[in-house]
Amino acid sequence: MQKFAMKPPGDKNPEERGENEITPSAQAAQRSRAEEELRQSEEKYRTILESIEDGYYETNLRGDLTFFNKGLCRMLDFSEDELRGMNNRDYQTPEEAAEMYRFFNRVYRTGIPVPSFDWNVVQKDGSPLTTEGSIHLVKNARGEAVGFRGILRDVTKRRRVELALGESEARFRSLVELSSDWFWEQDAKFRFVRLEGRQVIADGSVSGQNLLGKRRWEIGLEIDESGGWERHRALLREHLPFRDQIMHRTLPDGEKRYISVSGEPIFDERGRFKGYRGVGRDITEQKRAQERIKFLATHDSLTGLPNRLMFGEFLTPAIELARRHGRTLAALFIDLDRFKVINDTLGHAAGDKLLKEIAGRLRSMVRASDIVARMGGDEFVVLVQEAAPHQVAVLARKILSAIARPIEILGQGYRVTASIGICIHPTDAGDERSLMNGADAAMYLAKGEGRDNFQFYSEGIRTQTSERLSFETGLRNALENNEFLLHYQPKLDLKSGSVTGLEALLRWQHPEFGLIPPEQFIPLAEESGLIIPIGRWALRAACRQNMAWQNEGLPPMRMAVNLSMRQLSAEYLSQEIDDTLQEAGMPPELLELELTEGVMIHNPERTFRILSEIRKMGVRLAIDDFGIGYSSLGQLKHLPVDTLKVDRSFIHGIPDNCKDMAIMKAIITMAKALNLTVIAEGVETKGQEQFLREHNCDEIQGYLFSKPVSSEEISLMLRQGRPRFLERRAGEVI
Ligand code: C2E
Ligand code: MG
Ligand code: MG
Repeated sequence: MQKFAMKPPGDKNPEERGENEITPSAQAAQRSRAEEELRQSEEKYRTILESIEDGYYETNLRGDLTFFNKGLCRMLDFSEDELRGMNNRDYQTPEEAAEMYRFFNRVYRTGIPVPSFDWNVVQKDGSPLTTEGSIHLVKNARGEAVGFRGILRDVTKRRRVELALGESEARFRSLVELSSDWFWEQDAKFRFVRLEGRQVIADGSVSGQNLLGKRRWEIGLEIDESGGWERHRALLREHLPFRDQIMHRTLPDGEKRYISVSGEPIFDERGRFKGYRGVGRDITEQKRAQERIKFLATHDSLTGLPNRLMFGEFLTPAIELARRHGRTLAALFIDLDRFKVINDTLGHAAGDKLLKEIAGRLRSMVRASDIVARMGGDEFVVLVQEAAPHQVAVLARKILSAIARPIEILGQGYRVTASIGICIHPTDAGDERSLMNGADAAMYLAKGEGRDNFQFYSEGIRTQTSERLSFETGLRNALENNEFLLHYQPKLDLKSGSVTGLEALLRWQHPEFGLIPPEQFIPLAEESGLIIPIGRWALRAACRQNMAWQNEGLPPMRMAVNLSMRQLSAEYLSQEIDDTLQEAGMPPELLELELTEGVMIHNPERTFRILSEIRKMGVRLAIDDFGIGYSSLGQLKHLPVDTLKVDRSFIHGIPDNCKDMAIMKAIITMAKALNLTVIAEGVETKGQEQFLREHNCDEIQGYLFSKPVSSEEISLMLRQGRPRFLERRAGEVI
């Protein structure tokens, strides 16, 4: 059904061939032969032209189509009739047609064909097509240009793929650049054939160029992997992919640069191994950061010593090693005594300085193979390998004296002591847990033995430890179970000899262990925050008791209540005190709060404000245990206080210790100058009382006059109207 006009593609007709005429019949025969040949050749061309997908065209010099194949119809989507006589302007945009005109013109002028160029055409419905076209000049027998011919090939799809490829290549490149520093390719013999990127190895001494032709293990790189290069090569031989293999290069100055390399095998379309390609990254900075993070996580930032976590990591293999070689391993648990006092009175910066100094001293006392770690707070552990108990004892003694050497803080020398607990593997403990628990328990024993000493773990300690644990749980329930009570200790006016007031002192009536003195549970209560509700209870109970006595007809008494630093940092303290007083119906003047020197350190402005508020209410304030908290009298004048309660340790040495007496005299004189009342606590002897009276101390408190006693005993004492001297009974607790 093809009806399109087909002119012979040849440029000659029989007449033009100028053949000689012979006879008419011969001529006719000749013509018909020629016609047959022509028909056959035309047939051949037509078959060829119709069997190709591409479009074939012939135009005259104006560009009007004079001949074309079916391929062209299909391509442009016009029927043969429509297409016939069409000009290229009819299937091109005006711009493209103008462009085409220039091509035709060039071919016409030069006679040189254009073998391939992008020829953008438009289909019947307006859809654009990209074709690759050729232009040849068509000449007649006389050699005159009569038109053009050529092929048009639809390359729209191919161009689209090429574009997409180009885009994906660009995308790939930017990905490589974002996620890595360089891209590499190796041949089947693992030699670099391509290296591109920002930097190949960050020091700059290795560039992509001088690595070409070399293998990765021939360029001064070390592989940071178990099995090393051997394993890496085995992997390559298996044509396996690899991810993030870390390698490094040591620079001449000793610095290490780390790189991370990933690669995958390349195969050709027939599955033959061609080599590898992959990416690389300089991860030196990252690696440094990781190391730093690991160091921070495993070391104490203040002292630089390994922390609890790191210590645990040391301990397990150390025990394992000791076990295997049948050696001993000693853990010394070191806890500073009264560190809290320094921290509270001199401030955290001073506390930090002290800890750093102690850490340094500990480190310098042990062998490099021994371990010193800071477990937190003021706790340190020393782990000593291969040491007999007597050697460990020598070391413990040395540590105690090293710690006790004065430490200079804020221009002054301070002394701290420590308590050490020692536990030895394998004699006392088989595993790390029992080793540490044993050392900890022994340390508590050392504390109980009066601090500044060391104790070895023993079987007996174990029971004490479990007692301590149940003790801690018990404290949480003590308030609810109503296990607290107050004892009262009178204060005596030295001039009149009469009782001026009472101090309420907390006791814990433990269901199992009996009456427990505050020093054994207050530190724990402070640590856990329990001191706040406990202190609140003590204040209320003391005020109520005081008013109960008055209601019984006894003379009004001043009631002193101890206040923990933690309570002072609680919100609404002054409000709470006010409420308590109102509730009990007690005049504020009858209440005295005893605070330790430490109150001045933390947030002095806020403390000052709270204390002033309390004092404005009429409540009296006293500084308790004065003299041991490292504060000076000078600091005192800034505090809104009424009374100075000198610590009993200064009273102890009177009247034998000249130094103590001199200090006491000075404190009294200066306190007087500041208009403060001075009271001495812990007065146990007549001699002490005598001395204090002579030096104008205002009041005394101590066993000489009375121990802290129950409320019943106090009411008895007050009822009798005279001080009741208690004899000290031997072995009595409290
Ligand atoms: P503190 O306030 O300095 O109390 C004086 C301590 O010295 C009392 O110990 C008392 O029994 C003891 N003492 C009194 N006279 C003598 C003496 O002549 N010789 C000796 N050797 N000691 C004497 P206690 O009752 O064991 O209290 C110890 C500490 O517990 C108190 O020291 C105080 O800081 C604290 N504390 C007691 N009750 C409370 C409380 O309700 N709240 C708070 N936050 N702390 C309290
Ligand atoms: Mg007190
Ligand atoms: Mg005291």
